[in-house]
Amino acid sequence: MLESHGHTVHEFTESDAALRFLEATPDVRVVISSLEVRPLSGLELCWSARILAEERRPLHIIMMSSANCVHTLAEALDSGADDFIEKPPKAEELHARLRAAERMTRLQEELIRLAETDALTGLLNRRAFRERAEAAALRAQSGTALSCILVDIDLFKRINDNHGHDVGDTAIRAVGALLGETGIVGRLGGEEFGIVLPERDLASALHYAEGLRVRARTLRIACGDDTCGLTCSFGVSTWSGPDSVHALLKRADVALYAAKAGGRNRVVAEAMNSGTAQAV
Ligand code: GH3
Ligand code: MG
Ligand code: MG
Repeated sequence: MLESHGHTVHEFTESDAALRFLEATPDVRVVISSLEVRPLSGLELCWSARILAEERRPLHIIMMSSANCVHTLAEALDSGADDFIEKPPKAEELHARLRAAERMTRLQEELIRLAETDALTGLLNRRAFRERAEAAALRAQSGTALSCILVDIDLFKRINDNHGHDVGDTAIRAVGALLGETGIVGRLGGEEFGIVLPERDLASALHYAEGLRVRARTLRIACGDDTCGLTCSFGVSTWSGPDSVHALLKRADVALYAAKAGGRNRVVAEAMNSGTAQAV
């Protein structure tokens, strides 16, 4: 019934296998399950799928039961189901429900995207950046390398003052586009950005930051009939367990501050085993 309408269907006879698949396959948008399944009951499956999706993943859950009583319906909805149909499903109804599911998940997708995105640059916003960084840090805790770069446009206030706020915005967008190519990248504030690079050690992150520094220096920002340039400063830190995202960002921030104090347009690494930072 579903495949003939262009849906990709993965079917399971055991509910725990379905849940594991859902966990491993983020692009699944709809779960359809009978209430009478094992080893997890339909309600448990529903509940677990809802927790899995939280507010960061679009997911529509449709429960089916032959016992079409009001009590079961209420229980399924309270367990996190979005919809409820009688078993066996009738083709016309099922397809109509799936069209409704598509409208809902599209809307959820768009809301999630808006909630995670910085409107000016299209990069992650501060909150989403932190969340992704925390997720990446879970992998770093098991021994994989992870590094962090904080970037701040130099003397940005001057660009605003000399050329106007719109040109300032264009400059932020241009730097954002440059930084957004690799890793987990967010705009953390006005003209400050964060980059988390999974699987890169300090030397590799410094090399990458140096490349960005050189490319930022060659950016040309349109201002009226003319163009203007800019430079950026970079602070770089790396995961050294036991560590935390908060501490990783803090060390990159100390290094960034040292880059500013040292004359700007430079990359500074965190200093190992001390609160200071060193220029490279
Ligand atoms: P430094 O080299 O020490 O970083 O100096 P700076 O001038 O870049 O830093 P400062 O923090 O003094 O100024 C940042 C300015 O960025 C001040 C603020 O008005 C401006 N700003 C913040 N957000 C935006 C934005 O979204 N668009 C524009 N055009 N300007 C912004
Ligand atoms: Mg600045
Ligand atoms: Mg700043």
